[in-house]
Amino acid sequence: MSVDYLSPVTPEILQAFTDELIAKHQDIEISTLGASILGRNIPLYQLGHGKSASLFVGAHHGAEAITSLLLMKFTEDILDAKRRGLSRLAGFSVGGLLERRSIYIVPMLNPDGVAIAHLGAQAAGVLKDRVKSINGSEDFSLWQANARGVDLNHNYDAEFAKCKEAERALGIFASAPTRYGGEYPESEPETAALADLTRMLSKQLRLAVALHTQGEEIYWDFEGKAPKGANMLAECFSRVSGYRVARPPKEASYGGYKDFVIQKLGIPAFTIECGNGKNPLPPCAFYGIYQKVLPILLTAASF
Ligand SMILES: [Zn+2]
Repeated sequence: MSVDYLSPVTPEILQAFTDELIAKHQDIEISTLGASILGRNIPLYQLGHGKSASLFVGAHHGAEAITSLLLMKFTEDILDAKRRGLSRLAGFSVGGLLERRSIYIVPMLNPDGVAIAHLGAQAAGVLKDRVKSINGSEDFSLWQANARGVDLNHNYDAEFAKCKEAERALGIFASAPTRYGGEYPESEPETAALADLTRMLSKQLRLAVALHTQGEEIYWDFEGKAPKGANMLAECFSRVSGYRVARPPKEASYGGYKDFVIQKLGIPAFTIECGNGKNPLPPCAFYGIYQKVLPILLTAASF
C-alpha cells in the first residue's frame, strides 16, 4: 500500500488508501458511515463476518489524525496476514480471526477537523470565515472540533447537561476549536452517524475502542457504570502495551463516545490515549506508537 505513515494524513489520502483497499483485498467490505458537515466522506470498513463484533474509531479530534494512520496500518496488517495465511501477527494469534469476528473500523470520524488542523481555514470551504473567527488565530494546528466548532467527543448522549456545565465553567459558551459540546447530543452528522452504527451493532458488539492522543493511558469507566469485566480488559490492554490504566475520575468529563457506549448501551468501551508528548504528535513518532498500540488493537479485536 502506498501510504507514507511518516507523513500527516488528510481525508484525500485516506480516500486514496480506501480505494486501493477495494482493489487489492477481498476480505474487506467498504461502505460509508456518512458525510461530514462539509460533505466529506467518512469511510467505514468491515473486516470479517463473525457473529461478534469490535468497533474501532479514529480521529474524533482534528489534531489527532495520527490515530487514523494507526487504524489504516492495522487494517492493512490484518488483511495482509489473512492474504498470506499467517497465523500470528506481532506475536498474537490471528488465524481464523476474520471467521470468528467482525472488525468494524472508522479510521477518520472527523475529516473536516483533520483537514482544518492540517491546512487551516482554507480547508473549511463555505465555512472558511466562520472557522477563522472561531479559531481567532492563523494557527490551526490544535483545532480539534468539526467544521462547526463542535467537539465531537463532547457531543454524545452521556450526562450531556453536566458536559455543558463543565464547559461553561471553562468559559466556553459557543463554537470553539475544542471542548464545545454543541446544542444537544448527536447534533452533528458525524456523531449521529457513529451513534447510529453503534446502536445498530449493539447486539453483536463486544466492545468499542476510540483512539485519541496523547498520554499512553487507557480509560475504561464512566461514572462507575462500566460493565463487569471492562476493568480486566483495560488491565489486559495495559499489560500488552505498557500504557497506564487511568483511574477515574481523573477530571470531570462527560458526553464522550466511550461514555455513551458504556452508559446507554451497557457495552465495554475504551478511550486509548496513544503516544506521548504534545499534540499534534510529530509524524516521525508513528512507528513507535504503533508498536505499542497494535497489541491493544489485536487484543480488542479478538477478545
Ligand atoms: Zn482526542
